[in-house]
Amino acid sequence: MPSADNELKSRNLRDILEQARLFLAGSESAHLDAELLLMAVLGKNRAFLRTWPDYPVERAQRDAYCELLERRKAGEPVAYLLGQWEFWSLPLQVNTHTLVPRPETELLVEQALARLPDGSLRVADLGTGSGAIALALASERPSWNIWASDLSEKALEVARTNARQLKLPNVTFCQGNWCEALPEQSFNMIVSNPPYIAPDDPYLEGDGLPFEPISALVAGNNGLKDIISIVQQASLKLIDGGWLLIEHGAEQGASVRDIYSSAKFQCVETKRDFAGNERLSLGKLKHAK
Ligand code: GLN
Repeated sequence: MPSADNELKSRNLRDILEQARLFLAGSESAHLDAELLLMAVLGKNRAFLRTWPDYPVERAQRDAYCELLERRKAGEPVAYLLGQWEFWSLPLQVNTHTLVPRPETELLVEQALARLPDGSLRVADLGTGSGAIALALASERPSWNIWASDLSEKALEVARTNARQLKLPNVTFCQGNWCEALPEQSFNMIVSNPPYIAPDDPYLEGDGLPFEPISALVAGNNGLKDIISIVQQASLKLIDGGWLLIEHGAEQGASVRDIYSSAKFQCVETKRDFAGNERLSLGKLKHAK
């Protein structure tokens, strides 16, 4: 395999960037990745790259860039190489203990915000990872009391750091399995982006996924195991009329709607993401009289 060191011959920014793009060619995001990594190495923004094509890249910076390009070519997600990724316009720290936040998960935030106004409400995000969903909600609804749970203490460390850096005090992080970590009281809304990929799905070998925490991606029972647990637990944890929103795979809409309906949820529906795929299902709990 050609090494980045051999491919990046030039010293000026424009040529180095062009050679890096060629080195990463084959990946859909080659252009963007080459730019993001060079911006990180130089400590400059995109406008600088455009404005100073003849900028002389120092030897040490070129070496650091080559190392990052090699790791990217070996499949490591850019988000982990940068240690940071944006979600809902919030800069979030991420590492290999947390999933890289996906743009399609912003649908979950949008749909949650559309259901309840600001006010003294109790909302939970189950399996919070880097805290992406909980912190996006906290940034839009400062009066909500948000609890965010995760089984992984290492993920919670990242989420707590993000909350501190973003100065969002209305999220309480707690360690445990789905609803088990939450306090006694009932909730107005529960949201989750749980693992939902089947263990034998070849998609797991795709770009970047082998570097992500498998426990955040994969669930037994054809990807539905954790969704079933969440629906059951949430039905005991929500107030009458409380909402549950769960992200899932593009082929799982019908199964997830059935799971909701058999757990006494009403107004059950599935929403599609910007790519037109069924991406989340939601329902309103109706307590038995
Ligand atoms: N939506 C992610 C993907 O398709 C998977 C995240 C998840 O399992 N919750 O890569």
